[in-house]
Amino acid sequence: MSSMPNPMVTVVNHPLAQHYLTGLRNHETEPAQFRRLSRNLTTLLVIEATRGLGIETGKIQTPLEETDGFSLSQSLAAVPILRAGLTMLEPVLELFPEVAVGYVGLERHHDTAVARSYYSKLPKLEGRFTLCLDPMLATGGSAAQAISSLKEAGAGTIVMVAVIAAPEGIQFLTQAHPDVQIVVAGIDRQLDDRKYILPGLGDFGDRLYGTM
Ligand code: URA
Repeated sequence: MSSMPNPMVTVVNHPLAQHYLTGLRNHETEPAQFRRLSRNLTTLLVIEATRGLGIETGKIQTPLEETDGFSLSQSLAAVPILRAGLTMLEPVLELFPEVAVGYVGLERHHDTAVARSYYSKLPKLEGRFTLCLDPMLATGGSAAQAISSLKEAGAGTIVMVAVIAAPEGIQFLTQAHPDVQIVVAGIDRQLDDRKYILPGLGDFGDRLYGTM
């Protein structure tokens, strides 16, 4: 595995992001706290992931005088990969209430780790800056499959937002979709033989909902 920095990957290493990530990793963190940490960390990740959103300038009036103002000129879409990605949607809705939302349901087979699609509902994505949300970028197979369907729905700029990535997942995704930026809070060491990320945080969906 190459150790060259990948220009398509941004690691959000803000101290608060690393504090939240550590809480998520800790096996003693209970689901309620895990969900809170996920939402908080996603807020930081999404702020970074939307850095490239288009803005326009215009004059506005403060109570004292006229000045230059800025407003978002590009519409946003967010597509969580079910089920774990769903928890990342709420912070996006808080930050961008007008966001268009789609869903992709992919299930990892427990033995083979191959993703099977069981649901897809996407808005029109032409011209939209599109966030694909999935907390664990492990093999990259689900993300690559979801991003292919986002492109089929017309998405131009796509940013993959994940909590943790494995080097294997980053490599797979950047080969499949070299145009897609990846924003994460951490890049871990490797996948284990069940395709879990090490050191990771375990099964994100199970940790969220207490379904271990
Ligand atoms: N999905 C998870 O929830 N955890 C992993 O470590 C890998 C994939």
